[in-house]
Amino acid sequence: MSTHLLHRAIHGHLPTAVGGKGIELFDAEGNVYIDASGGAAVSCLGHGHPAVIDALHKQLDRLAYAHTGFFTTEPAEQLADLLVRNAPAGLDHVYLVSGGSEAVEAAIKMARQYFVETNQPRRRHIIARRQSYHGNTLGALAAGGNEWRRTQFQPLLINTHHIDPCFAYRMQQVGESDEVYAARAAQQLEDKILELGADEVIAFIAEPVVGATAGAVPSVGDYFKRIREICDRYGVLLILDEVMCGMGRTGTLHACEQDGIAPDLMTVAKGLGGGYQPVGAVLLSGKIFDAFANGSGFFQHGHTYMGHPMAAAAGLAVQQTIERESLLANVVAMGNELERQLVERLGNDRHVGDIRGRGLFRGIELVADRATKQPFDPALKLHARIKKEALKRGLIVYPMGGTIDGVQGDHVLLAPPFIVDRNDVERIVERLADAIKAGIDGIQS
Ligand code: PLP
Repeated sequence: MSTHLLHRAIHGHLPTAVGGKGIELFDAEGNVYIDASGGAAVSCLGHGHPAVIDALHKQLDRLAYAHTGFFTTEPAEQLADLLVRNAPAGLDHVYLVSGGSEAVEAAIKMARQYFVETNQPRRRHIIARRQSYHGNTLGALAAGGNEWRRTQFQPLLINTHHIDPCFAYRMQQVGESDEVYAARAAQQLEDKILELGADEVIAFIAEPVVGATAGAVPSVGDYFKRIREICDRYGVLLILDEVMCGMGRTGTLHACEQDGIAPDLMTVAKGLGGGYQPVGAVLLSGKIFDAFANGSGFFQHGHTYMGHPMAAAAGLAVQQTIERESLLANVVAMGNELERQLVERLGNDRHVGDIRGRGLFRGIELVADRATKQPFDPALKLHARIKKEALKRGLIVYPMGGTIDGVQGDHVLLAPPFIVDRNDVERIVERLADAIKAGIDGIQS
């Protein structure tokens, strides 16, 4: 056991993962875990999928690396074609990177460069939402609205302005319809743009279904349609961060399809390569591409490993497998089944405040008092206890503590592989319910 690996040195108690098959992971001591969060909503095909392994072996035999300064490669071009073929309307170019934070950084820089190329130098502000996570590099961290992650790194590189999220469980008023609430939440964007100056904002960035920081929170009503309209009214670019909620996780290939809108820029990663290789991408609209092509002639950016052939081959194989095996239909069916079983098993629990999400992307918010929605004391670290209890029961889930100005409760995020069946769902819910009970018993004893 190495004490030099920072990860091991800091989290000494972690098991060593040595293998995986389907929805299960194995550690060095022979323990078996159901990977019910796909790590961090990554392993959409589960582990050890033969089609992906085969594609990677073949690519490695042909070519492991060629620098994008000199070449493109076949898998990179094929992946770009596949992504555009299935993209929301207007997104017709792809920039391949190594992960989600890199994708967000690139998208923000694209948005900035777009306004330089189109002679709008006054534009300099980014608006995001309080309940959000967009990555851990300093630019992406600045965009995110999670104070716990941001605080110790102040001052951040970009001066981002945050509005409230669309978070029905916490912010919709009693008796307020979805439409009225959606309009009220979206209005905050227009107010913020006007406050900053109608021609001074570059972009608004948001996750269509908020993942890690809030626990699978979708918007309600026409929230995103209104957001799209407001962005268009003021010439503000809309960046949708689908790093966690995208690539089929919510039952449609892109989460924004369910909101009936298309962004100007979209970031994807995680499920794109399903964990078989680190890969992410920015999909950009024709108008942004044209601004670069007709302006300086290039996008002023680059990373050594962007468009890496092995990463592109993994993304291609994963996405082709999802198409070939019609796995999105299973995401919808098993997503509904997961919701049904969660509600049946936990819906009446006095500490379960909310069960939410779309497809195989579900969140359970835990509260001390269901009537008042009062969270547990964050110092009790209920989420960490649940994670530990789940691991003891052979279950991997993704729990987080409360985030929005101390208002939100602890939550557990579920994002199982798209290949789960009814029996798997039953085992996940069973073990999770036990782990939640043990976690809460632990703080009450
Ligand atoms: N954006 C969102 C919505 C995410 O959930 C994440 C990671 O959890 C990121 C960006 C950053 O991605 P990565 O960890 O691959 O850098």
